[in-house]
Amino acid sequence: MNIDELLQKTLNSDELPTLPTVASELITLTSKEETTLDDIAQLVSQDISLSSKILKVSNSEFYSFPQQISSINQAVSILGTNAVRSLVLSFSFLSLKNREDESRFDFKKFWEKSLASAVGAKLILEKIKGADTDEIFIAGLLQNLGELILARTFPGKYSTKLATVEGGQQDSKEGEEWLLMANHSFIGAEVAKNWGFPEVLILPIQYHHNPEKCSCRNGKIQSTVNAVYLSDLLVNIFYSDKPETYHRQFNEEAKKLLDLNSKDIESILEEMHSKVQEAGSYFNLKIKSSKSVQEILQEANIRLSLLNLDYDQINKQLVQAKIHLEEMTKELEEKNRILNNLANIDGLTGVYNHRYFQNALDQEISRAIRQKSDLSLLLIDIDHFKSFNDTYGHQVGDFVLIEFAKTLKKHIRRYDILARYGGEEFAIILPETSSEDALVVSEKLRSAIEEYAFREKAAEYHVTASFGQACNNPASDSDFSKNTFISQADQALYAAKDKGRNCVVSFVP
Ligand code: GH3
Ligand code: MG
Ligand code: MG
Repeated sequence: MNIDELLQKTLNSDELPTLPTVASELITLTSKEETTLDDIAQLVSQDISLSSKILKVSNSEFYSFPQQISSINQAVSILGTNAVRSLVLSFSFLSLKNREDESRFDFKKFWEKSLASAVGAKLILEKIKGADTDEIFIAGLLQNLGELILARTFPGKYSTKLATVEGGQQDSKEGEEWLLMANHSFIGAEVAKNWGFPEVLILPIQYHHNPEKCSCRNGKIQSTVNAVYLSDLLVNIFYSDKPETYHRQFNEEAKKLLDLNSKDIESILEEMHSKVQEAGSYFNLKIKSSKSVQEILQEANIRLSLLNLDYDQINKQLVQAKIHLEEMTKELEEKNRILNNLANIDGLTGVYNHRYFQNALDQEISRAIRQKSDLSLLLIDIDHFKSFNDTYGHQVGDFVLIEFAKTLKKHIRRYDILARYGGEEFAIILPETSSEDALVVSEKLRSAIEEYAFREKAAEYHVTASFGQACNNPASDSDFSKNTFISQADQALYAAKDKGRNCVVSFVP
């Protein structure tokens, strides 16, 4: 469907709103040059309810005439033909019955917003000295006529469009163009033309989004178009979720297009909300929100700073939480380390305990298999330690155990593993060590112990120890097992004891 087909479809649609008789006859009448004020007054007077509404508004602050207007004749002669036509059209459109159909278009909100536009446009144009404000109200009111018409003519497509727009994918105008290949400005203007509307009403509908494109020579019409365009920005301060943006834009454009000064702009912004409320009562439209521009902007500002504040606070809290977590992790690691140590260290001598010895031996066996290297194991048992304890007491025995472990430790390599196997028995794992080398180490340790003077207070003690040694190459021995390995060292130790103690014995299969 191209734009012409769309237009034809719109104009021929049963859904196209029809103007009340008075309104459409009034338009015909006012377009003829020979029409007199009396003709107009007579036509309007036929509709009693409409007449009384017009008189009510004429005598209200909306016009603020000093004298009482008591008849339509008087209204027409005092207000003028255009102003009366403007009022008739305003009442006609605002009382158009909207049927409840499946369309998602919110007619009530549409008219509420349109009324606000009309009030805004009037407030704006009244600031211009010598401007003709007779028709600004109806021009502002009908600027989005096209939207209403499209919503009624294409309810299905229009609701899809609204869903898209509400989803934030497109702005209202683009979404509509996308689906209907025309914009509401064009359709609205064409329908108004078809109804016989005068140019001063058609052009604002057509150019209310881009007044600079309206290249009309008539200054009055151009001012009307500009004021209607500005009224849209003004109304969006109230109806959009970006009041600050529209406020700024309204200020800039009002200065640029109509040369309004800050004082004028300020007064428009100040009066707007109460004037809309007032107009609502004249035209029987209930207007909900009555917040002033100032309040709206203040709220927006607070929302924004709250948002920033929240972000800052959340950020701070996150950083704090992270620091806390890091500290806790560190503490936990330290505690784990201590716990691990406690679990692996022998309480008396400070060397590894039996539990650790078993694990370490597993690991060293695996390593020896990987590296196909020799692994040696020493079991060391203090000689006649029972009688040593009996002679010197348990405490001296403990002292000797501690010093004994230290002496062993002093004579082995850093990566040899010394553990207290139990009681007065110690074990040393010697990685990558052949039987010959292990024998050398054992002999060195044996003589170190034999020569060592265990000194405590004034006394000096001597002990000896027996050494059982076993060596294996686990990678090359298919029968190898850890328990056999330990038992071999144990057998060698027994042999050393048997041999008379204070000696080293290697296990020989
Ligand atoms: P052998 O030369 O045959 O090894 O004789 P032994 O007396 O050393 O052997 P036995 O196994 O009969 O006795 C070990 C002694 O070690 C018994 C116990 O009092 C002593 N002992 C074991 N653990 C500790 C300890 O933690 N502190 C002290 N003071 N003595 C301990
Ligand atoms: Mg023993
Ligand atoms: Mg012993």
